[in-house]
Amino acid sequence: MYMSRVACLLSLSVLLSAVSGCSSERTPAFVAKSEPWQALEERQCLASGMVRTSPFLNARSSLGGPSACGAEQPFEMSAALGGRVRLTPAATLRCPMIPAVDRWVATVVEPAARFHFGASIVGMKVAASYGCRPINHKWGAKLSQHGLANALDISEFRLADGHKISVKSGWWGSSRERQFLRDVHRGACDSFTTVLGPLADRYHHDHLHLDLARHGKNGTYRVCR
Ligand SMILES: [Zn+2]
Repeated sequence: MYMSRVACLLSLSVLLSAVSGCSSERTPAFVAKSEPWQALEERQCLASGMVRTSPFLNARSSLGGPSACGAEQPFEMSAALGGRVRLTPAATLRCPMIPAVDRWVATVVEPAARFHFGASIVGMKVAASYGCRPINHKWGAKLSQHGLANALDISEFRLADGHKISVKSGWWGSSRERQFLRDVHRGACDSFTTVLGPLADRYHHDHLHLDLARHGKNGTYRVCR
């Protein structure tokens, strides 16, 4: 409770408008500010028709309720590329993340799997997607993009020949595992605005974090490390 109060005071002191996590002992407290672009981008994505439900993409009811977390129309994505690349477990994502994941898998992950291993990508292990929590689970930190269903953590890639490449062991593993993981990490920076891997910090030693946060004044800045 003490920590909750600290985080709530912290958010008031920086005059940010939406605060959550102050009412429940079980929800870690975080600082969240109102970011209208989030809702706007989600609505534009939904209106564009580029994301349609399928056996691999189910519409869910809205997430978050009265808290700063959530999305208006989240989706549960159990596979990318029209079912060819399984996501295990299924990821809960907001609309703009879905074409970004598909684009990354099609233009980066699949070509890298073919180039380095001569096999197609058939699956990816989801370490995390939606979660109403602060960045890196730190009390009083800013709301994570995971809290907006705007982030995806991938910890393992599975190939058609049975090969599994985990970020944890492969990042410093065999030469082709290292090359593959560095290629999919670097290539993700074209589809996502934040990409964090094992070189970013100790929190990302075993997965790639991908999100569509807005960075910088114009939203054009990219975080890729
Ligand atoms: Zn993450």
